[in-house]
Order: sequence, then structure tokens, then C-alpha cells
Amino acid sequence: MPTATEPLPGTSDLWEPEVCDWVMLENTARDIFGRYGFSELRVPVFERTDVFVKSMGDETDVVQKEMYTFEDRGGRSLTLRPEGTAGVIRAIANRGLSQGEEQRVFYMGPMFRGERPAAGRKRQFHQIGVEAVGSLDPVTDAECIAMFVHYLDAIGIEGSRVQINTRGVAEDRKEVADALCNYFRPVLDAMCEDCQRRLDTNIWRILDCKNEACQEKVAGAPRITDLISAESRAYFDAVCSCLDQIGVDYEVAPTLVRGLDYYVHTVFEVKHSGLGAQDALAGGGRYRIVPPGGKKVLEGVGFATGMERLLMARESLGHKAGEPAGADVFLVSLGQDAVIPGLALAQSIRRAFEQLRVRADFTARSMKAQMRTANKLNARVTIIRGGDELAKGTIVCKNMATSEQMEIPESDVNAWLRANL
Ligand code: AMP
Repeated sequence: MPTATEPLPGTSDLWEPEVCDWVMLENTARDIFGRYGFSELRVPVFERTDVFVKSMGDETDVVQKEMYTFEDRGGRSLTLRPEGTAGVIRAIANRGLSQGEEQRVFYMGPMFRGERPAAGRKRQFHQIGVEAVGSLDPVTDAECIAMFVHYLDAIGIEGSRVQINTRGVAEDRKEVADALCNYFRPVLDAMCEDCQRRLDTNIWRILDCKNEACQEKVAGAPRITDLISAESRAYFDAVCSCLDQIGVDYEVAPTLVRGLDYYVHTVFEVKHSGLGAQDALAGGGRYRIVPPGGKKVLEGVGFATGMERLLMARESLGHKAGEPAGADVFLVSLGQDAVIPGLALAQSIRRAFEQLRVRADFTARSMKAQMRTANKLNARVTIIRGGDELAKGTIVCKNMATSEQMEIPESDVNAWLRANL
């Protein structure tokens, strides 16, 4: 049982130095995605439940079992966002997108799914995602995948594998579903309960069932790429050919379907062996979504990557967590009378040097105890002042690397810091 102060199962408190890595992931995403013309969009973390159900499909696992849905005081059904795309599409529809216009956005932040917590599977997890909405071209699908590979390089994740497949379009669905149904119905008894249900509710999901007995049957199933129309096949070939030409490695994964109803054409996932059982670093694809209350379908392509998983992959490759916050300058104040002048001096140094991290000790503890804290924070310089120095208007500055120290007038502090840092 968690104690009263522990975060709920599947959620975490994030402290430094871990937070430094999160900020690095976010800033690198801003940098790389910005260079491909994506701009940041921040949407609410809760929406009307319909926003998710209508776009993701009510037979999907997320909608069926995992959403945090609640009623507000007005009796409206609201849901904490389980993914980013539905809310982004709502926002773009709300602003309006004219024919032929492309809107490229990225987002980052918490998502919520009531899953059984495990390594790499949280109830509040964090995604960075992108959407290129209004783009109808297979080249954009390839560019999105290439951009994610670029991002992984930039954050030091090697050894990932891009897997792609196609879902065809709505008009292909019946033919594919019928063929899968004919194949699976006679062997259904040997498959798991979920798959037995999926035969009627969402037959596509049988293809990516993780159960071993089911996987055996799935291995012999007809391939989506052989069942879709010639146009859909041509679209898929165009994406693959573009990836070949721009030098992005990928494998075709015939059983990759991804859970949600809104996908058309390209679906892809990026896997990493350092992740264990939950081995997906990112997933995405092309989609057609009718925004809430709207009639006009919005089409786009995008992906989302889990920040927790990116950090796990980095760790598996030996990257250490970021540097602790630390301090550049640490002020030791000896005796109660020196405490407030210590705070005033810290303030004036912070204002004079924007980039310096300045900490001051207000405890009036012994010199030894305060110096221990300075060491723990890896302070580069300590400034020491007690009653004598206060009376003389001086301070003692110590360079922690060389242990050299000297007494100087307080008014010379900025010049001394400039010369010593
Ligand atoms: P999905 O839309 O479910 O494919 O999610 C996209 C990415 O988000 C996955 O590839 C994971 O990296 C991450 N992700 C999804 N669900 C979770 C979860 N419960 N905990 C941590 N990361 C997750």
C-alpha cells in the first residue's frame, strides 16, 4: 500500500536532476521540430468526452477501459486526455483550416490512461507529439518519420527500429475485415478471450495481440498490403520509396495496425530494445478525423513519443541523468546579524549576473555545516561574512577549486566574481 505522501500508482514526482533531462527532451523537440516548420500548440488537458470517443472509436481499448472520465458540476461528461491528436484536431477545427492549407504543430505534456502500471507504463505519462494537418501527400508521412529519427539522433538514442504498415482507407476496410474474419473464425477457439471478442468488435486488433497462442495464428493471416485497393497500395509504396530515397531505415511490419479507428494509410511505430516489454518509443500515422460538431473531415499525419520511454532508452544506452541543480556562488553568513545582509548580497549578485546560480544559507549554522552544504551543491565560489566583516564592509571570497581566499571590500564583489568565474 502506498503511504499517504507517496504519489498514486502509475504517477511520479519528478525532481532534479531528472527534470534536467525532461527539459532537454522538450527543448530539443522545440529546436528540431521548429526546423521542420512545426510550431507549438498547447491545448487543455481535459475535453468533452466526445472529443476522444468520436475520433478514436468506441471499440478501442483506450476508450473502453482506460479513460479517466468524470462529470462536472453541470453534468457534462469530461475526460482527461488519453492522447494528443483528438484535442489538437478540435483546436485546429475551431480556428479553421482552409482548403489546401497545412497546419504543422507540436505539443508536449501529460496524458492519462487507467492502465495497469508497469515498467514503462504509467497512468500519467508524458508525450511529445506532432501533427501535420491538411497535408495529403505521402512525402509528408516520410518526412515525419525522418524528423523523428533526426530527433532520436539529437537526444542520443541509437539502435531504434522504425516499423511501418498501412491500414488502407475506409473503402478498403470491408474487404480486409472479411478476409481476416474468414481466416480467424475457424481458429478462434485457440485464441484468447479478447481476440474472440475482437472478431466482432475490432478485428484489426487481433493482428497486434501480444498473446503467444494468438501470435501463432496471426503469423499465417492474410496481409493487409495484399488486400487493399491498388490506390492504397500505391500510397504505401510511395511512402516506402520516399524513405528509401532519403536514407531512412525501416522495416515493413505486416501485423502493425495501431489501436485507433482514425488511422488511414500509413501507420508506424518506433521500437527500442532497451525498453523491455513495453518496447514502443513512439507511434503514429495518417488519420482522418471528423472534428466534434463538424462535417468536414480533417486529414493529417503525426506521431507521439513517450518521454518516460525516451529516458529509459537513453539510460539503457548509458546516458546518465542530468547534473543536479547546484550553485555557482554560495553565501555563508555567520551569526544572525549577517543573514539579511547575506540575502541582500545574493539578490544583488543575481541581478548583476543573469547566468549565475546563487544560493545563500540563512540558518546561521556553524561555518563547517554551511561549507558542507556549499560542497554538496558543487559551489564554485563561496562568499563568507560574519560580524567582523560586516563592521568593516568587507567579504571573504573563496575559490573552491583552488581553495585560495581573500578579503575584499563588498563593493568589489562583482569585479572579483567576473575575474574568478
Ligand atoms: P500510443 O498512442 O498508445 O501508441 O502511444 C504513443 C507513445 O506514448 C508510445 O509509443 C509510448 O512511448 C508512449 N506511451 C503510451 N502509453 C503509455 C503509458 N501508459 N506509459 C508510458 N508511456 C506511454
